[in-house]
Amino acid sequence: MRLSSLRIIIIGGATGGCAAALLFARAGARVSLIERVPHPRAVGAGIALAENGLAVLESIGLGPALRVALPVVGGRVTDAAGRPLLTPRPPAPSMHMVRRETLQGILLDAVAAEPLIETHFGTSLVAARPDGLVTMRRHGRSLDEVLEADLVIGADGVHSRVRDGGDFGVRIERTGLHYLRTLLPPGLGQQSEAWTSAGIFGSFDVDDGTYLYASCNTPRLRTAVRGCDLEVLRATWREAYPAAAPLLEAIDQWQSLLLHEVIGVHCRRWWHDKLVLLGDAAHAMAPNLGQGANSALVDAAVLLDELRRAETMADGLEAYTRRRKPKVGAVARTASLLGQLGEWTSPVARGIRDRVLFPVIDAMTTPNALLRVMQEDPDVLRAIGRG
Ligand SMILES: Cc1cc2nc3c(=O)[nH]c(=O)nc-3n(C[C@H](O)[C@H](O)[C@H](O)COP(=O)(O)OP(=O)(O)OC[C@H]3O[C@@H](n4cnc5c(N)ncnc54)[C@H](O)[C@@H]3O)c2cc1C
Repeated sequence: MRLSSLRIIIIGGATGGCAAALLFARAGARVSLIERVPHPRAVGAGIALAENGLAVLESIGLGPALRVALPVVGGRVTDAAGRPLLTPRPPAPSMHMVRRETLQGILLDAVAAEPLIETHFGTSLVAARPDGLVTMRRHGRSLDEVLEADLVIGADGVHSRVRDGGDFGVRIERTGLHYLRTLLPPGLGQQSEAWTSAGIFGSFDVDDGTYLYASCNTPRLRTAVRGCDLEVLRATWREAYPAAAPLLEAIDQWQSLLLHEVIGVHCRRWWHDKLVLLGDAAHAMAPNLGQGANSALVDAAVLLDELRRAETMADGLEAYTRRRKPKVGAVARTASLLGQLGEWTSPVARGIRDRVLFPVIDAMTTPNALLRVMQEDPDVLRAIGRG
């Protein structure tokens, strides 16, 4: 297909939406990027960029700006005493940690510099129709605006409005599992994730800070969350994982913590006529392989690749779904399984997990298995964006 004649509307200006906007605009399409947040810069805590996501970002020229991301050296999973449970063997794909705000800022600067992208920030999608008609409303205005597109890309996250507009056969999975995330001063990261009697606790250095995440699913941690009680949170984690103490002390107030429920999104179809989904809108997953945002980036590149090769829009969208859905589905299932295993709190179950299951998982974590988590060859992804 000739992309230069296409009018594309992208809903959602976060990782997946910005990357898709840049990829399609560089391929010559006219892109409108619609984001409900007026100044979508200051978002989230930290994020792990894997080789697949990084390859897509490099392909759109963001490699130099992303040199601020810190490589994870010697990353591993341990038990509460620091004994290694899982240490990926070389040549494991590399991982870089970065503040979400940094990544979002880099994407938005690139979007602002791209003449073929028209941004509508502070504007919410009200409804999208399979025939490509999009109704949106700018904040503070009472009148809706209607736009028409050849393709509407729903990169609008777990609660996607674009998805509501078509028949995607969606099933939303509320797991009830929650994570706390925050940024702390630099130099505190342990570059590891500990599986403990209170769940999972991870900390990594990011550019100018430390990214901390911790599950909060035991009865005591749930009480801490309900009461926004930092002392109970600290005491519970100190008991379960003494090495966490310096990180816990560095949390200045409860309000600096972000709370997220893990929600799974499973769609039977990823496209309906002129609507197509990518990222969390299509396949939100548990965070335990660090592949949610990376997969959104891969989606954007593969969507471009398949539309470029196809004779018709329908062929391209179907090929995109066939290429992406099985691979991302396998990653999501593994992430979900790991997320559930990480919440085992009974000493007997954890003993079996750590002594019996982990050696099996460790043996299965071969370089090939890790490449499957990347879903696409990073060199192929790099070539798509540059092509
Ligand atoms: C605890 C935790 C840790 C994680 N860690 C990692 C990690 O290390 N690595 C990784 O790859 N992934 C990670 N993830 C997953 C990652 O955060 C998501 O997969 C990723 O943000 C999805 O990107 P997206 O662009 O698809 O959607 P989102 O980031 O959800 O963006 C959707 C955008 O759409 C906008 N929007 C929504 N509705 C509308 C509307 N009606 N009109 C206009 N705009 C709208 C929103 O404001 C938002 O900007 C983690 C998730 C959690 C919960």
